[in-house]
Amino acid sequence: MKKIHQIYINGEFLTPHGTETFDLINPTTNQKIGEVVLGDEEDTKAAIAAAKEAFKTFSKTTKEERIAYLEKLHAAVSKRENDLVKVMVEEYGGTLQFCKMSAQNAITAFPTMIETLRNFNFEKTVGHSKVRLESLGVVGIITPWNASNGFICSKLATAIAAGCTAVIKPSEMSAQQTQLIMKCFHEAGLPKGVFNIVNGLGNVVGAEITRHKDIAKISFTGSTVTGKTIAKGAIDTMKRVTLELGGKSPNIILDDANLSEAIPLAVFGAYMNNGQACIAPTRLLVPENKLDEVNILAKAAAQNIKVGNPANEDTNVGPMVSQKQFERVQNYIKIGQEEGATLLVGGEGKPEGLEDGNFVKATIFTNVRNDMRIAQEEIFGPVLSIIPYKNEADAIAIANDTTYGLAAYISSSNKERAEKVAAQIDAGRICINKFTHDPQAPFGGFKQSGIGREFGVYGLEAYLEPKAILE
Ligand code: NDP
Repeated sequence: MKKIHQIYINGEFLTPHGTETFDLINPTTNQKIGEVVLGDEEDTKAAIAAAKEAFKTFSKTTKEERIAYLEKLHAAVSKRENDLVKVMVEEYGGTLQFCKMSAQNAITAFPTMIETLRNFNFEKTVGHSKVRLESLGVVGIITPWNASNGFICSKLATAIAAGCTAVIKPSEMSAQQTQLIMKCFHEAGLPKGVFNIVNGLGNVVGAEITRHKDIAKISFTGSTVTGKTIAKGAIDTMKRVTLELGGKSPNIILDDANLSEAIPLAVFGAYMNNGQACIAPTRLLVPENKLDEVNILAKAAAQNIKVGNPANEDTNVGPMVSQKQFERVQNYIKIGQEEGATLLVGGEGKPEGLEDGNFVKATIFTNVRNDMRIAQEEIFGPVLSIIPYKNEADAIAIANDTTYGLAAYISSSNKERAEKVAAQIDAGRICINKFTHDPQAPFGGFKQSGIGREFGVYGLEAYLEPKAILE
């Protein structure tokens, strides 16, 4: 049984002032594997004070010094790649396939930000003025459980590039992953107080970060509900916010697409990260006159999806992170049937032989109407909704008929046509004919999928405050 009782403040591993504990449960077996001692408001205040003190000197560092720190972080995190994968599979239930990719994203966050920083000018001429882009201050970094260290690394890399210091509050469900990354960051030997990590609950540690006057900005990834709470709280001290929130991303299959390629890819994509991905293409929009063909292809693709132990190389879908998340997904599968959608494959209950963990059957609903709850609400599990459309204009209208706007996907044999459709979709990131990633391209949402952008130049500018000097 592991007992995690360390937080990290001012360059030191400390026992938290808080005494409450949280059980760590392996989602594959539902066995308790450890517990974490949670930090409290006092711990959070101490972390903020350390980051505030460190900011005085860290904000004055040169580009070269920041690059050197990012290189050290990169080296320290790279060394532990296998451990990063292993602990993620065990603690979170992410598949080996996904966790390897996620660990890579965490590691490459540093060189990617170094590249951005090398080409970035902190001083520009605008009109007849000199504009200096200055470090914002202490940043509160609040992250969810579904790719914990990936988010922490990319947000911290950006803060450091901008000369900001940070107080990080990960999800308590990721405590073992946090412990590992804490050790890596410590090894990198950054000046004291530049980064501080406090395990703890959102409504305790997260709320203190949100209200504290010495936090200048919050970079948050998580649900839209929590994002709104943070944004409301942040306004009292006029904090800057970057909010990366939920999604219900459309995947538009145009009538000229190659269905035998596009449909299996669509199913696979919807189940990425066990379906617990904000960018997952969970609404599959298909021409109504091709619905029968799509149903056959989608059912076959889902039946080829292997749900099971996430540590196995060939597993495509592992367990839901928690019992609560399992129940939430089950409830949506029930709602879909009650709403009158056709259950094509999967359904309620656990797959045979996987009764111990939080496993959900790979599920597809077809004949879904876009006004159904399963088409409007983020389920965060392996549940795909197939929605028929009449023509291209109808597909675009359905795609945009959502409160979200994080990502969208388009399949077509005509690139020009796909780009014209992309121009009419309200989403922060649109992939054409494949699921791909560009770590330099801005990432973030339209509408209620968030505020602001991360990654590359757009991400870096969000940690800086422009100051115009008129001479
Ligand atoms: P939550 O919003 O519940 O939690 C995210 C983080 O916020 C956790 O660390 C949580 O702490 C903390 N938190 C909770 N309440 C507060 C509060 N009142 N003040 C400050 N912090 C708080 O999200 P989930 O952990 O459930 O993650 C899933 C969600 O994240 C999905 O909606 C998903 O779409 C979204 N997401 C968005 C991404 C994006 O880039 N747009 C990427 C990945 C996920 P605690 O754990 O203690 O509750």
